[in-house]
Amino acid sequence: MRYSILSVIANAIAGQTLWRPAWRDAEPKPAYDVVIVGGGGHGLATAHYLAKEHGIRNVAVVERGWIGSGNAGRNTTIIRSNYGLPGNIPFYEWSMKLWEGMERELNYNTMVSQRGVLNLYHSDAQRDAYARRGNAMRLHGVDAELLDLDQVRALLPLADFDNARFPIQGGLLQRRGGTARHDGVVWGYARAADQQGVDIIQNAEVTGFLREGGQEGGKITGVETTRGAIRAGKVGLSVAGSSSRVAALASLRLPIESHVLQAFVSEGIKPLVPGVVTFGAGHFYISQSDKGGLVFGGDIDGYNSYAQRGNLPTVEDVCEGGMALMPSIGRLRVLRSWGGVVDMSMDGSPIIDRAPIPGLYLNTGWCYGGFKATPAAGWCFAHLIARDEPHPVAAAYRLDRFATGHLIDEKGVGAQPNLH
Ligand SMILES: Cc1cc2nc3c(=O)[nH]c(=O)nc-3n(C[C@H](O)[C@H](O)[C@H](O)COP(=O)(O)OP(=O)(O)OC[C@H]3O[C@@H](n4cnc5c(N)ncnc54)[C@H](O)[C@@H]3O)c2cc1C
Repeated sequence: MRYSILSVIANAIAGQTLWRPAWRDAEPKPAYDVVIVGGGGHGLATAHYLAKEHGIRNVAVVERGWIGSGNAGRNTTIIRSNYGLPGNIPFYEWSMKLWEGMERELNYNTMVSQRGVLNLYHSDAQRDAYARRGNAMRLHGVDAELLDLDQVRALLPLADFDNARFPIQGGLLQRRGGTARHDGVVWGYARAADQQGVDIIQNAEVTGFLREGGQEGGKITGVETTRGAIRAGKVGLSVAGSSSRVAALASLRLPIESHVLQAFVSEGIKPLVPGVVTFGAGHFYISQSDKGGLVFGGDIDGYNSYAQRGNLPTVEDVCEGGMALMPSIGRLRVLRSWGGVVDMSMDGSPIIDRAPIPGLYLNTGWCYGGFKATPAAGWCFAHLIARDEPHPVAAAYRLDRFATGHLIDEKGVGAQPNLH
């Protein structure tokens, strides 16, 4: 059923009896043209674009839990394309364009809210860096505005402008940035993929790979799962947070470290923060949900872990950042906090590439920033799997760049994941 005002009226008249499940709970078939491992936003978007853009509909998405149970359901929902390096800007801007058309494309309310992303600067050097980034964005046709102190004050009146340890000097604003509803994105892509014939198989953990000529060396021909073996012409990995472990099942070692990233939500209050705001003198960012809760976070915990929970020193560090920016939020109560495991690459940028093993494709290394990439990652990963060549906007995201030295160090902090 198409969602529309007419379907709402029809259901109102019929006592809400006409609604159907948004996707089927598929049983695994013995074989598919493509198996995507991981039912997060990226895996489901890939399946959707394989069907929609490339006509490949004999596709399964194999998910060990329920769809969206990974980082897709744990992130702070920020979307933006305010990057500064040529390898990144076209990709993230393509993602932003897909966000802008997503609700119409998927016929689903993903609550895309372009309320702006404001990066504050607190020193002359930081202003120059943001000016450079803003200019790079504008040269690529992306919107960017460098704001002075008065303009920031008008946008964010409750920040500390008068007595701050790190006085705000101004900010870089991308008005088209903002937030989207993370569950809605997962459900929207799942429903659209399902309608095109994609099988979404939940509660099926991939535990190994089928390979030509036995386990060592040969082409990947399918996956072993807790619900049986499934053969596949091609296998794509979209298992954020678990990439190293799943790749290890194919004897592949990735340039990835797994780290915990925490997020926090306060009790609901009246509108306080206009869009997404990042504090430039520490690592703190904040937005406000439609229910009124402040949604905020900061640095990764900084040690390797697969636990989906974090530690108190990072909680303290994040809250200190918030207090330095807006002391008034100190009186609020935190309602919830949680952690997710993020795949940190060595330069802070992702990998969308063929694995060195025939039949296997990689979409990984999204660090703490892969939610905003969901539509474009799905689009480009589908392109790579369907055509065996990288999509032009994702051509820089090669696996071998760590060997050849073509790193994409957007932050300019060096090749260490805990610095990014
Ligand atoms: C606290 C936090 C805040 C964040 N905030 C932002 C933000 O504001 N903006 C932003 O752009 N990004 C953000 N991110 C990053 C973003 O959430 C991730 O980069 C993105 O969600 C990763 O892609 P995904 O949605 O496909 O991942 P996931 O949802 O993690 O999907 C991977 C799936 O693979 C499944 N899986 C793993 N192993 C197996 C297996 N063996 N067999 C079958 N299935 C398997 C998992 O169960 C999971 O469902 C944040 C992350 C965290 C943790």
